[in-house]
Amino acid sequence: MIQGKRAVVIGAGFGGLALAIRLQAAGIHTTLLEKRDRPGGRAYVYEDQGFVFDAGPTVITDPSALEELFSIAGKRLADYVELLPVAPFYRLCWEDGFAFDYANDQADLDRQIHARNPADVEGYRRFLAYSRAVFEEGYLKLGTVPFLSFRSMIQAGPQLARLQAWKSVYSMVARFIEDEQLRQAFSFHSLLVGGNPFATSSIYALIHALEREWGVWFPRGGTGALVDGMVRLFQDLGGTLELNAPVQRLETSGERITAAICADGRRFEADAVASNADVVHTYKALLGHHPRGIDEGRRLQKKRFSMSLFVIYFGLRRQHPGLQHHTVCFGPRYRELIAEIFAGAELAEDFSLYLHAPCVTDPSLAPEGCAAHYVLAPVPHLGNADIDWTVQGPLYRERIFEYLERHYIPGLREDLVTSRIFTPLDFRDELNAHLGSAFSLEPILTQSAWFRPHNRDDRIDNLYIVGAGTHPGAGVPGVVGSAKATAGLMIGDAGR
Ligand SMILES: Cc1cc2nc3c(=O)[nH]c(=O)nc-3n(C[C@H](O)[C@H](O)[C@H](O)COP(=O)(O)OP(=O)(O)OC[C@H]3O[C@@H](n4cnc5c(N)ncnc54)[C@H](O)[C@@H]3O)c2cc1C
Repeated sequence: MIQGKRAVVIGAGFGGLALAIRLQAAGIHTTLLEKRDRPGGRAYVYEDQGFVFDAGPTVITDPSALEELFSIAGKRLADYVELLPVAPFYRLCWEDGFAFDYANDQADLDRQIHARNPADVEGYRRFLAYSRAVFEEGYLKLGTVPFLSFRSMIQAGPQLARLQAWKSVYSMVARFIEDEQLRQAFSFHSLLVGGNPFATSSIYALIHALEREWGVWFPRGGTGALVDGMVRLFQDLGGTLELNAPVQRLETSGERITAAICADGRRFEADAVASNADVVHTYKALLGHHPRGIDEGRRLQKKRFSMSLFVIYFGLRRQHPGLQHHTVCFGPRYRELIAEIFAGAELAEDFSLYLHAPCVTDPSLAPEGCAAHYVLAPVPHLGNADIDWTVQGPLYRERIFEYLERHYIPGLREDLVTSRIFTPLDFRDELNAHLGSAFSLEPILTQSAWFRPHNRDDRIDNLYIVGAGTHPGAGVPGVVGSAKATAGLMIGDAGR
């Protein structure tokens, strides 16, 4: 136990929360400062007329990483939140009527793949073996190791070379699988963490093995219930959470941070500060008065950022028993649409959507007989497409509702009780996300591991980063893993 040390964590996203739990459990008195009125960050919760809407993550994978947070504190995850299995993991649908239920059942997968293209049954097996090898190396061995030196990157080189990490997820899937729709089914996953399947390192093919290994889960009461459970754990350990506490500035003395200063003038002194806020915001805004903040902010602005998202949360007075919990709705184009989402200057005419129907697993998220939903469309970030979302947002919502009505939810607008939208402007203004990116720096090989902002700053040695902008990257397992890497450094440094 480390006594007498104080840490401040800025931002109560999954990464900030997981880090705060680890620090507090190690005996470092930790204060978590969150800008918004609720914790969770991208996993915020909206409540409206009896509907509960999880704002962001809904596909909860790697429960063992969450379990570990509770066990290091001498507790059990199950005492705080119940995780419900989701089956099938996803239903994948195309406009030509083809549907694929991606389930954790080998015989069922083989049957569906065989019906589509018999040769791909064997191809899928080889892809799964590849995905498992990457999962071993990339997730189990390197996922929670901080890459602070270039030497650590070189040491990982042989494994990365053996796994052909320079190839893209799609090209790797295409090596094993012939059918175009099955290729899409096994390559879209990197989009869930902000990666373009045609550009992101094939290391991200590990998501497939990760899901097969540990399943897909949903907390009873929604992802918000998991956030609440983590907050309770942190507070049970004696940690302090301050909501409505936007940090405006990091106070420095030479090359050290001395305190975090909130917009209302409150000053939180600390021996160490970790930022879970957007990395560009951290350096440019919070440290913009310091040479390090100016240099690093400028450097990071030149990086490639992930796409943004347009999200509609909506409540219906009727349930649609045909829907699965998670549906991926592929549009008419795949490669071309993704290219436009990542680099286009305008909104495409068509879209691919993810539709969330959580009441399939937990009906308590809506009033009796009703259903809570969200639907999201990946869209270009504000640096690529200068779209006035205050005008386009409501129009885009109508287009998406019309499409859902036609293909998935007949009578949607007639049954609509409530709806709200979240646009790239909200990612920028509510979450301080650079260019309104939904997932921070794009996870390409040249922006991963040592090439990503480090878990500990290179110059200010009591400043740390946690969350999507540092190693290993976005997604709940990613940011919870980043918290483990960052906590290891902070606890080690505090004990010196
Ligand atoms: C719509 C959507 C769906 C997703 N679906 C999934 C999914 O199904 N599965 C999955 O694994 N991942 C999913 N993701 C990705 C995942 O949600 C994120 O990568 C992850 O939650 C990010 O966590 P984080 O720790 O980086 O912090 P964030 O959630 O980004 O939180 C950062 C926090 O910092 C706060 N903050 C910012 N500036 C300041 C400041 N100056 N002072 C104080 N606080 C500040 C913000 O308010 C915020 O609360 C999804 C993301 C989105 C947007």
